[in-house]
Amino acid sequence: MKVIYVDNNATTKVAPEVVEEMLPYFTELYGNASSMHYFGGQLGKKIIEARERVGALIGADTSEIIFTSCGTESDSTAIFSAIRAFPEKKHIVTTRVEHPAVLNLCKYLASNGYDVTFIGVNREGMLDIEEVKNAITDNTAIVSVMYANNETGVIFPVEEIGQIAKAKGALFHCDAVQAVGKIPINLKKSTIDMLSISGHKLHAPKGIGVLYVRKGTKFRPFLMGGHQEHGRRAGTENVPYIVGLGKACELALQYMDDENTRVKYLRDKLEEGILKNIPRTLLNGNKEHRLPNTLSVSFEFIEGEAILLKLSDLGICASSGSACTSGSLEPSHVLRAMGVPFTAAHGSIRFSLSRYNTEEEIDYILEHLPGVIEGIRDISPFWKKEYKKAV
Ligand code: PLP
Repeated sequence: MKVIYVDNNATTKVAPEVVEEMLPYFTELYGNASSMHYFGGQLGKKIIEARERVGALIGADTSEIIFTSCGTESDSTAIFSAIRAFPEKKHIVTTRVEHPAVLNLCKYLASNGYDVTFIGVNREGMLDIEEVKNAITDNTAIVSVMYANNETGVIFPVEEIGQIAKAKGALFHCDAVQAVGKIPINLKKSTIDMLSISGHKLHAPKGIGVLYVRKGTKFRPFLMGGHQEHGRRAGTENVPYIVGLGKACELALQYMDDENTRVKYLRDKLEEGILKNIPRTLLNGNKEHRLPNTLSVSFEFIEGEAILLKLSDLGICASSGSACTSGSLEPSHVLRAMGVPFTAAHGSIRFSLSRYNTEEEIDYILEHLPGVIEGIRDISPFWKKEYKKAV
């Protein structure tokens, strides 16, 4: 069966060029980058090249790039660094729609002596900048707000938020795991102090990430031990993955126009086709301020999991906006924070595209999805009771 993969915000296919560039670092150049012999020199050069490639994608200096194991580690490192660097400040500001990598850490800190403000969003998933302004105080150690939301693709006004944080003397961290490689980012002219990247969201492998730390930012390491990454992240360098991430960043820069034109066109075509041809369907998230690859829609009165299973039978891989917690299918915290009505939040599906998707694939989804939704609604007691009553 042909697989149509439209779940790229969950993870991406590793680009073949990335695999090719990584291979020698498993087979021939397998040494330790810290060694004084031949291997050390060869690997050191390649790590510098990877740093340059990451830096070129986000407008950063090589000295500002710290390689980590994933986006989650980068987020934890940034937040723990800020609260350790400013131990007298006991307040943190974040949002209710962050990824669990930030949200659960902030909840943990809230139950361990920190005062945490969780900013809400409106029905379109947008933040109220006035609320952000009112939340940040002189006691705020760090403001952590994501660049773009993983479920809806909504892009937040991070530069504006950074400015407010600066004015109050707080550090500004941005989880840009979903944004890097999809939209242009230039940290040269930015208010962001620290920024998280995850390799597997941009066609590098899982298990590699970056924390960008602006020059001059007070920093405390999360992993302590060896002198790697200039003492800022201990642990023997994962050279093949660092090399892979470097190549993936180079490719992302090369394909940035494609992402914002062809991929966006395919996403828009999918969105229009769904909203036009399937009744009682809602778009989740602001239409304009959104990643070019992401589409979150709710099909009223049915369960997202039923839709996913039917789509999977057709070879279509997407994801739902629910989290399977303790046996009950709860709508995700993002959709709940947005106030998506109960009857719609349960039937939410996220389609997230990449440069590997084609127009034929979008046409295939549009051909089959209306029948899938109709079939599920036909046997849904909610649909029969609520919708038929409503019309
Ligand atoms: N932040 C966001 C916005 C994400 O979407 C993800 C992964 O889905 C993460 C952080 C965690 O990244 P990783 O899987 O590399 O730990």
